[in-house]
Amino acid sequence: MRAILFDDVGKISIGDYPEPQIQEPDDAIVKVTTAAICGSDLHLLHGRIPGMRPGSVIGHEYVGIVSAVGPETKRFKVGDRVVGAFPIVCGACWFCQRGEFNNCSDLRVLGYGMFVGDLDGSQAEYVRVPLADWNLHAIDPSLSDEQAIFAGDIMTTGAYIAARAGIQEGDVVAITGAGPVGLFALMAARTYKPAAIYMVDMAEDRLAFAERLGAIPVNSTKVNPVIELQSRTDDRGADICIECVGAPPAFDTCLQAVRAGGTVAVIGVYSELEHPILLGELWRRGITIIFGGSCNVQGHWSRALEQVKQGAIDPTVVITHTLPLEEGLKGYELFERREALKVILKP
Ligand SMILES: [Zn+2]
Ligand SMILES: [Zn+2]
Repeated sequence: MRAILFDDVGKISIGDYPEPQIQEPDDAIVKVTTAAICGSDLHLLHGRIPGMRPGSVIGHEYVGIVSAVGPETKRFKVGDRVVGAFPIVCGACWFCQRGEFNNCSDLRVLGYGMFVGDLDGSQAEYVRVPLADWNLHAIDPSLSDEQAIFAGDIMTTGAYIAARAGIQEGDVVAITGAGPVGLFALMAARTYKPAAIYMVDMAEDRLAFAERLGAIPVNSTKVNPVIELQSRTDDRGADICIECVGAPPAFDTCLQAVRAGGTVAVIGVYSELEHPILLGELWRRGITIIFGGSCNVQGHWSRALEQVKQGAIDPTVVITHTLPLEEGLKGYELFERREALKVILKP
């Protein structure tokens, strides 16, 4: 089969790769009809995530048709149309039994290297999905591949952090970072009927995009976002801040821009080892800080897909490019140069 292969840090290629076979009784093989390139694929490519086996298949966002199942796969059969989750969970551990799938004690990730299971990824014609009953979700026939694919990753990440943030109707919400996750957090936040959602970013084009999705743009290169949010809330600050950047300055902006008694919910990924915070100040103001950790896909994807079906969220707005799998390298280049917001690949 054809696949996008991770050759080494900084180098991927399109090549031939053995078609996956059923290895465990609870596996499924999915014939991929639509795949996508994720920001975290770039982290692998840049060597920021170690452990990717040279020559293995990259990618973890996909929709397809089940082409084979092991004897212990119960919820899916050959011919079912499915979306896959990027995290591969066991479904049986203490955390999975509580629905905290992101804390699974045997968490693996498709196409993400030997430290998370050494599983081949989904930017290919076929992908093997372990524990298929837990790691695939059926797609309603009314939904297109493009409407369903992000349920396995960024759309549900937005739904997850918006849920964790505890937004109430009438709240003022501020989101830092208008990348794909920030835009999905915005679309998910909207479903809670807040009074206003402010999007803080430095890039005009991304802010314009967020504005079209209903946010009030705040360009942090032009105004101080903390002062801006306070001035628009009788000096209180936002009820809820959702941090989608994963950089300390954005975290600090949220801590300062949130009102006393408010909540900062973080989904951006930090690589810094340490960062000073004013403990006494946070205590005095009674700030709740929630670190979302990795997205609980399996706990939230049904709800995210239902919101798409009802028309509350249109995930296809983030798709800027659709290319054949064979032109996948071009997709990575476009994404790398930030000329593409989201690239879809068709095997
Ligand atoms: Zn991803
Ligand atoms: Zn588990």
